[in-house]
Amino acid sequence: MPHIQPLDPHVADLIAAGEVVERPASVVKELVENAIDAGATAVTVEIQHGGMTLIRVTDNGCGIAAEEAETAFLRHATSKIRSEYDLEAIGTLGFRGEALAAIAAVSRVDLLTRTADESVGVSVELEGGVVVSREEAGCPQGTTMVVRDLFYNTPARLKFMKKDSAEGAAVFAAVQRQALSHPEVSIRFLRDGRQELLTPGDGQLKSAVYAVLGREMALGLRSVTGSGEEMTVNGFTSLPTCCRGTRGYQHFFVNGRYVKSRTMMAALEEAYANQKMVGKFPGCVLHLTTKLNAVDVNVHPTKQEVKFGSERKVFDAVYYAVRAALEQDQTRPTAVLER
Ligand code: ADP
Ligand code: MG
Repeated sequence: MPHIQPLDPHVADLIAAGEVVERPASVVKELVENAIDAGATAVTVEIQHGGMTLIRVTDNGCGIAAEEAETAFLRHATSKIRSEYDLEAIGTLGFRGEALAAIAAVSRVDLLTRTADESVGVSVELEGGVVVSREEAGCPQGTTMVVRDLFYNTPARLKFMKKDSAEGAAVFAAVQRQALSHPEVSIRFLRDGRQELLTPGDGQLKSAVYAVLGREMALGLRSVTGSGEEMTVNGFTSLPTCCRGTRGYQHFFVNGRYVKSRTMMAALEEAYANQKMVGKFPGCVLHLTTKLNAVDVNVHPTKQEVKFGSERKVFDAVYYAVRAALEQDQTRPTAVLER
């Protein structure tokens, strides 16, 4: 047996990066989450070649202080939590302090940022996680992250990337989820120079739903509002006649975070019981809002899986809210269009 020894930190970083950064869509998810956590009201996402050659995320958030610009890329460096107690009630999308380190480890990154307190911003360039340049730079308040040549130094991962069109589609889906999760933020998406999405950021979920899902889909939705034990549910769900052959239109959010939840999915579908055809699935955009300490988001590196204090309460809240929505007069125009 060879000797046991700690891994070189660079190798450890590459291994850790593999958990967070699976493909361009995961980079975009993390960068947009950071922008939202920074209080941005407008976020632009641009990609080229499905995000493989270029991802640029620009926000008008609080910016990063010049002296912390490099620290942001260190593993486990975060401004969002301080102590173990903070883990019990996480109010931000990020908190692990891993994303920027992971992204930088497997790409070439340019950061351009300025806070409101500073008159001039800073630009930092990294390659494979190593800072290669740093200089003062004029820029508006906020942050621009440019990620180039994803996985250029990890050929094993690069090999598993799909066609640019498929990676680009996954990025678009990730951006759409962010837009639906935060209607108060105007989200713009450009693929290879063409704008494919712009949400108004007026704080109305229906505006975001309309912009993301389009008119035809919005027409087949009914609005949902309900409250269960210690939680509220609101959003939109398909009319039984507008169910589709895939679950691809089901979007669940918990306290503003997109999640994959079997409980919420089961509750949604159960609410349709025998109202929908076999093999068809309702689409939905459902936001569950609950006390921060009623949900543990620290169960998976990408934070898309969460653990509820009580799965039953969540099931009931979703089930009854959706049932109530479906029992309304089916001939009424959909809430989305009542504007
Ligand atoms: P986390 O989001 O879990 O804290 P990240 O690695 O994603 O970890 O980011 C590290 C830190 O960099 C954040 O805690 C935040 O302080 C800062 N940061 C990252 N992106 C932005 C941004 N767009 N605007 C302002 N600050 C940012
Ligand atoms: Mg983050």
